[in-house]
Amino acid sequence: MGADLGGTKVSAVLVDPDGQVVESCYRPHDGTAAGALASLAALITELISATLGPVAVGVAAAGLVDRTTGELVHSALLDLHATPLAATLSELVGSQVIIENDANATLLGIQTHSTHEETAILFALGTGVGGALSVGGRVLEGSFGYAAELGHIPLEQAGSHPCPCGSSGCLELFASGTAIAGRAKALGLFGSHENAVTAEDVVAAARAGNPSAMHILRAAGEAIGTVLIRLIPAFDPAVVYLSGGFGHHAADFLVPAITERIAEQLPFPRARPAPRILADPVGPLAAAIGAARLAQRRGTVAAHISERDTHEHRP
Ligand SMILES: [Zn+2]
Repeated sequence: MGADLGGTKVSAVLVDPDGQVVESCYRPHDGTAAGALASLAALITELISATLGPVAVGVAAAGLVDRTTGELVHSALLDLHATPLAATLSELVGSQVIIENDANATLLGIQTHSTHEETAILFALGTGVGGALSVGGRVLEGSFGYAAELGHIPLEQAGSHPCPCGSSGCLELFASGTAIAGRAKALGLFGSHENAVTAEDVVAAARAGNPSAMHILRAAGEAIGTVLIRLIPAFDPAVVYLSGGFGHHAADFLVPAITERIAEQLPFPRARPAPRILADPVGPLAAAIGAARLAQRRGTVAAHISERDTHEHRP
């Protein structure tokens, strides 16, 4: 089983040993940490009671996670810090639970059915900007577990606009749904309704042909493209995915802006193709599917580990 702890809802899937989704469900929550955790536990318990055998449980969460202790170290979205998420859920649902960062889980979910092991980069564009990087089919965790926090690659000098991460000038300040809504408000794009403006409203306005809204989305795409120009020489990716609520809605505006920005500064343009830029092909359940795949892989239920996966086991 895989579950996804999001800012407004929780979702969960049951997958068979081949990674096929056999059941899925979701439940909105009230946006508080307590409400989100209660909904998550209820959803997992419900799905477990509907299954016949033992279940390995993986949970994707927005924020920094410690895979060894199962702790949600920091989640700005749910205002959770040093939360023993895996242990708490384990006790509640009576099954071992592992946790993973939601962007990493999304990339794993997308790659579940990949036939080849491309180097891939994922930008998760929602309230914030998350990221994931996969090299040779393996999602990078980094030395301290914080690899691929792509939203916090700086685009400006130190001391410029402060970022919630503690640094300044990060990509998140230019390409998150929050940043997009903020730009629209600053421009007075929606007049008296501007307090309730969301990134989705900006995308809708761009679709209706509003030039300011189109410009805002284009600037976000260019910011992502600028970050990619710095990542391409390091990782040589074949594909770049845009996921998350804002990423999905705005992909048809972001992709051309990213593509054009990359074309301006692609290193060795005669020698290598530019990476393909795509909207996440799996959709809203990708993180839950990826979390389920991890639970299978990490062997929380021995019977579910196939011979093929054994070499992928990590403590
Ligand atoms: Zn930052």
